[in-house]
Amino acid sequence: MIIAFIGLGNMGGGMAANLVKAGHTVRAFDLAPAALERAAASGCATFTSAREAVDGAEAVVSMLPNGAIVRAVYTADVFGTAPAGALLLDCSTIDVATARDVADTAAAAGYAMLDAPVSGGIGGANAGTLTFMVGGTPEGFARAEPILKAMGKAVIHAGAPGAGQAAKICNNMILGGTMIATCEAFALAEKLGLDLQTFYDISSVSSGQSWSMTSYCPVPGVGPQSPADNGYQGGFAAALMLKDLKLALEAGAATGTPLAIGTRAAELYTAFAESGHGNTDFSGIIETLR
Ligand code: NAD
Repeated sequence: MIIAFIGLGNMGGGMAANLVKAGHTVRAFDLAPAALERAAASGCATFTSAREAVDGAEAVVSMLPNGAIVRAVYTADVFGTAPAGALLLDCSTIDVATARDVADTAAAAGYAMLDAPVSGGIGGANAGTLTFMVGGTPEGFARAEPILKAMGKAVIHAGAPGAGQAAKICNNMILGGTMIATCEAFALAEKLGLDLQTFYDISSVSSGQSWSMTSYCPVPGVGPQSPADNGYQGGFAAALMLKDLKLALEAGAATGTPLAIGTRAAELYTAFAESGHGNTDFSGIIETLR
């Protein structure tokens, strides 16, 4: 299949490479020359504009920083340029309202557009083991599934357009909250004189267990290998966690949903990022609590 890929950064670079490995012809565009060079090295054809990349493509995949950029790229460069009937898949994490709006505009222009944000981080993007949460029509989902499967281990239809983004921000709001709760519990356990490995051994098989504890433990040397064992480098940057929490708060305000824990988590990650830790893994917030 001929697939245009727009946005070949930390995530998109590995995803596009996996499409090539699956036998697709990938037409790549990114504003950053370094990202394009990496795409060329992994077998993509590279172009100097999004318009050129989407010309003749049967599907378009995008992995861009935010909703404003997604709207601008699709409105200016994809609608009317990509062939009629092309399948459009935005895998960026963006706000639900923009995802729905852009999908509506796409439908009016004759395209099936789906939001397909991911979980799994840069490691998952490189390894082709992402989880895709997909919003769009059942027909669109059936067309998207084989393409997304080349980049992920799980592809789940969440519902109508925007539902993928809704699932993503609700999931990551849990993640932000449980990480802070887990960090606070370890900090308190330590102050109370508990050995932290012993506390892990107890809590990881008790009701305090969560992914934040047993797959991504914020304490170095405790639990499986995680960014804590690497000085909180790599992994999921605090700035990205904050981005997702802000999207959840925006959706909460729009729907009148009280989000006390989500709000507090966003405040704590704002302070963490503003103290120079925007690029630190989000589990590093434990250092401000210990
Ligand atoms: P990134 O900044 O590494 O990559 C974004 C790329 O988009 C950059 O290469 C940039 O040059 C390019 N770009 C920006 N504007 C463009 C435009 N107008 N036209 C073409 N290219 C343009 O970011 P990332 O970490 O790859 O994240 C991409 C998306 O994936 C974000 O929405 C992020 O929230 C989401 N996400 C990231 C992670 C992660 O762990 N990094 C995990 C899940 C989801």
